[in-house]
Amino acid sequence: MEYIPYSQQDINEDDIQAVISVLRQDFITQGPTISAFEEAIASYCGAKHAVAVSSCTAALHCVCAALGVSSEDIIWTSPISFVASANCARYLGATVNFVDINPQNGLIDIDALGKKLQEAEKTSKLPKLLIIVHYAGHACDMKHIHSLVEPYNILIVEDAAHALGGQYSGDFIGCCRYSDAAVFSFHPVKSLTTGEGGMVVSNNAELASKVAMFRSHGITRGPSLLQSESPAPWYYEMQLLGYHYRMTDIQAALGISQLKRLDTFISKRKEHAKRYHKLLSELPLILFPQNEESAWHLYPIQIEEVRRKQHIFEQLRAANIGVNVHYIPIHIQPYYRTIGFSHGDFPQAELFYNRVISLPLFPGLREEQQDYIANTLRALLT
Ligand SMILES: *Cc1c(COP(=O)(O)O)cnc(C)c1O
Repeated sequence: MEYIPYSQQDINEDDIQAVISVLRQDFITQGPTISAFEEAIASYCGAKHAVAVSSCTAALHCVCAALGVSSEDIIWTSPISFVASANCARYLGATVNFVDINPQNGLIDIDALGKKLQEAEKTSKLPKLLIIVHYAGHACDMKHIHSLVEPYNILIVEDAAHALGGQYSGDFIGCCRYSDAAVFSFHPVKSLTTGEGGMVVSNNAELASKVAMFRSHGITRGPSLLQSESPAPWYYEMQLLGYHYRMTDIQAALGISQLKRLDTFISKRKEHAKRYHKLLSELPLILFPQNEESAWHLYPIQIEEVRRKQHIFEQLRAANIGVNVHYIPIHIQPYYRTIGFSHGDFPQAELFYNRVISLPLFPGLREEQQDYIANTLRALLT
């Protein structure tokens, strides 16, 4: 069998033509294609505003800055995520802490969150912001989380890097019904790609306008946003210390074209996940719960016998199957250990990590590839 990657973008001739046609236009960055992509994503998700940026990491940094996160603040997130979910707060000097997960589905453990909030209230260490991770594309219980943090006025940002095209309670993720903002990634392994890219969505106009300023040096020309009356036609103001986090129109053109096939991508991911579930259900594995609303970014399996995981992983790789591990818990990364975290701090996250392997999952995965993966696993496990 040829090598099967764990994920693979799906680029067709329309995508290529969309990129070529923007190259023939006047603007190849910060032009009309950016606004068109922003509007398309906002309308897909059902959010009022969207701001395109260079990556989801940039999106997280912009949102935290726009929400006023500073070195005085604490933010909480999940230890089972990509490091960017925590790093965004560190960029602003804030203190990071984690809430342990539910090892059934890798999502934040609601009971652990409730307990941690009560303890933090007693010690005056409540977070300003909670960054919620929809791991593997499965939505966290946003309604419940919102009701838990509301009495403390804690802000909520959804790290929806895995979840574009997924739903929660009938709404598309990114509608921000229970959050202040959500962020997406358009890296090639995610739901749709712009090469590199990210997006902030929100229903808060002021937040979106601050994010837009932060993505471009903190500069604005908007007449209604200026602090002094414009003395000249060339006038602009730098009002805060921003960065350069802009997306190009070339990327946005690819994004608009890809978005037309997003529903097809997600329904294929759902089909593959269902098929894996059927093929693997007899094996000594912990499978993720079936979930019709998930964007199925990943298909994680858990090896019940922890001591066998490494061997199984190596054998799958040796069989040309591009398995991966999502994720090494953030708190045991060397950097996070230098700032005070240790092994054992979040035991459910560590148990999950000791068991989990991500199988290949992407729209173009073929049935015979899936059969080969399932048969290889069966031979290793039985
Ligand atoms: C991919 C990912 C990011 C970062 O996305 P980039 O676009 O690569 O910056 C952040 N959070 C999670 C959960 C991710 O999977």
